[in-house]
Amino acid sequence: QRARSQKEAVQFFEPEIQAASYRALHIATALKRAVAKGELRLYYQPIVDPRTGDYEGVEALVRWQSAELGWVSPLDFIDIAENTGDIVAIGHHILREACNQVRRWQLQGRDIRVSVNVSPVQFGAPDFVASVAHCLQEAGLEADRLKLEITERLLLSSSETVRHKCEQLAKMGIRLAMDDFGTGYSSLSYLRDLPFDIVKIDQGFVRHMTRNSRDKALVRGIIDLAHQLGITVIAEGVEEHAQVELLTRFGCDLMQGYYFSKPVPADQLFSEKESSSCSD
Ligand code: C2E
Ligand code: MG
Ligand code: MG
Ligand code: MG
Repeated sequence: QRARSQKEAVQFFEPEIQAASYRALHIATALKRAVAKGELRLYYQPIVDPRTGDYEGVEALVRWQSAELGWVSPLDFIDIAENTGDIVAIGHHILREACNQVRRWQLQGRDIRVSVNVSPVQFGAPDFVASVAHCLQEAGLEADRLKLEITERLLLSSSETVRHKCEQLAKMGIRLAMDDFGTGYSSLSYLRDLPFDIVKIDQGFVRHMTRNSRDKALVRGIIDLAHQLGITVIAEGVEEHAQVELLTRFGCDLMQGYYFSKPVPADQLFSEKESSSCSD
C-alpha cells in the first residue's frame, strides 16, 4: 500500500522538478569536498562612507568554482548546505578566512572592518559563539573589527537562546547587522528585542527609490527609525548616482553596491580604489 502510493507520488514529478533535484543532489555532493579542495573563495565588496569615499569596511561574499559544476552562486548552494548541515563547517571556514584577511590588511596599515554573513543554521550550532571567539583569537584580530550579518530568517526561531547568543557576541564587542532589512515578517520586534548595531536596507527597496515614491518613503522611514534607535544604516544594492544623492539627503550612513564596486578578490580591493583615485 505504502510502496504504491509512493510510486504514484513520483509520477507527479515534472521533468524540471526532477532536473532541479538532481542538480541539488550534485551540489550537495560536490560541496562536501569543496572546502578541502580549496574551491571556496571569498570576494570582498566595499562598504563606503559617501561623505569621504572611504571604505568603512568590506562584506565577505563566498564564491564557489566547482571542478564539476562550474561557478555556483551562493543563492544556489547556501540553502542546500543548510539542509545537509555542511554550512556549519563551511561557515566556520569563511569566518576564519575573513578574519585572517582583515588581519593581513591591518598589518599593511589598512584600517577596515569585515562583515561576514552567518546562516541561521550556523548560528544555531551550540558552539557558535566559541567558534567566533576562536577565529578572532587565531587571527589576532580585535572583536570590534568584525560584523556579523544575520538575516531575519534566523529570528524566526527567536528564542531565549538566540537572544543570549546575540548578547554574548555584543558583549565581546562584535557588531551585529540585520541583513535584508524589511523583507522578513517581524523586523521591528527583532530591533526591539535584540542588540543590533546596524540595519542593511534590502536592495529591493533601494532599486526603485528614485522613481517610486512609496519605496522612497519606506527607505526614508527606515533610516529615521534606525537613527531613533541609535542604529547605523547601510543601503545595499546602490547602483546609480541618483540613489547616492537621495540616500545622502536622507542621512543614510553607509552604502554598498555596484556604483562603488562589485565584490572582488582580496588582492584587487585596494588596487582598484587607488588606481581610480590616481586617475582623477
Ligand atoms: P547578501 O548578504 O544580502 O549580499 C548582497 C548580495 O547582493 C551579494 O550577492 C552581492 O554580490 C549583491 N550585490 C551587491 N551590490 C549589488 C548591486 O549594486 N546590485 C545588485 N543587483 N546586487 C548587488 P551574492 O554574493 O550573490 O550573495 C547572495 C546572498 O548569498 C547574500 O546576500 C547572502 O545572503 C548569501 N551569502 C553570500 N556569501 C555568503 C556567506 O559567506 N555565508 C552565508 N551564510 N551566506 C552568504
Ligand atoms: Mg549580507
Ligand atoms: Mg542583504
Ligand atoms: Mg540578500
